[in-house]
Amino acid sequence: MCCLSICMLPVGFRLFVDVAGNEFYNSSFLSGWRVVYCDAGNAGCVQENEGSNGKTILMHSIFCVLRKGDVVMEHESSYLKLCKSGNLQERVDQAVGLMRKCGLCPRECHIDRLSGEIGFCRTGVKAKVASLHAHFGEESPLVGMYGSGTIFFRSCNLLCSFCQNFDISHDAEGGEVEPRELAAMMLSLQQRGCHNINFVTPSHVVPQILQALIIAVEHGLHVPLVYNTGGYDKVDTIRILDGVFDIYMPDFKFWDAHWAERFCNAPDYRKQAVAAIREMHRQVGDLVVNESGVAVKGLLVRHLVMPNDVAHTKEVMTFLAEKISKDTYVNVMDQYRPCGKAIWDPAVNRRITRNEYITALRWAKEAGLHRLDSWI
Ligand code: SF4
Repeated sequence: MCCLSICMLPVGFRLFVDVAGNEFYNSSFLSGWRVVYCDAGNAGCVQENEGSNGKTILMHSIFCVLRKGDVVMEHESSYLKLCKSGNLQERVDQAVGLMRKCGLCPRECHIDRLSGEIGFCRTGVKAKVASLHAHFGEESPLVGMYGSGTIFFRSCNLLCSFCQNFDISHDAEGGEVEPRELAAMMLSLQQRGCHNINFVTPSHVVPQILQALIIAVEHGLHVPLVYNTGGYDKVDTIRILDGVFDIYMPDFKFWDAHWAERFCNAPDYRKQAVAAIREMHRQVGDLVVNESGVAVKGLLVRHLVMPNDVAHTKEVMTFLAEKISKDTYVNVMDQYRPCGKAIWDPAVNRRITRNEYITALRWAKEAGLHRLDSWI
């Protein structure tokens, strides 16, 4: 009885949410079944069993990833409206103009990328792509059934010494693409069924993304865009993206200037991240999902718990709860491992302990955050 799987669900299956947001019912296609939250907060499916034992059966299915506190709505990607109004080209021009004396990000290198000069991010006029694929390891509201359409850019404007993708971020060689090639990548991911286009490390290639977006929209792109950033973003650049990105997914890496300087040569990281996240939240609000539990709009924040609490998790969680929203969706990540130069740094040359992770989660909950993406 309880081995029903997604492949048995009829086409047209829909979930409905009541106003209280605590219970979901299926359509008449599955008469006799109802969908409710299980203890973990994810949705499961139960049937009023009419068999001999008369028990209700809980089905542990992953067809739905709705969580307590999720707001459900239909949504059209914002950039489509911007494109129809003719304002997208204006944003492209603004962003491209910033490369003339590059101030796209807080590094403010002030070099002319349009004439081939290279700054801290070692990226000139063309974006560099390391890989693209349907990613099933991202946060569940981004992954859904068919994955998050992830495009990894080469290089980065932070270059953390412990980067978990050190080979991609610190190696800026190769992978240059024209806007039409980047547009084709976006369209191919959408064609594969991906629920969104997820730009990883986009801060230094905002103009190139916008140039490609115009082409992609002309050819039918419609899924939401995800701005998946290290959090070292300039507010003025994020303002250019108002109405372009529906989903922002910034890291909030550090609170303390000493550690931000030591690992990223960015002592002003907190100041920049605080301002950028405030602006992101102003634009898109808290995370909203569709009826399948897939994100359509809003803010997700990632925080990597680090050894010896060099990330100052408690302060970060308190900021998010008190200055952004207690409804902020936060992924408290436990996967830190010493990569890159971190193996020589005694402060961070080990994984975190279970106790460090549990303590980080406790701080998040004590701050009042409740939409936590964690394995405990
Ligand atoms: S985007 Fe690159 S070149 Fe421009 S300011 Fe940032 S690091 Fe410097």
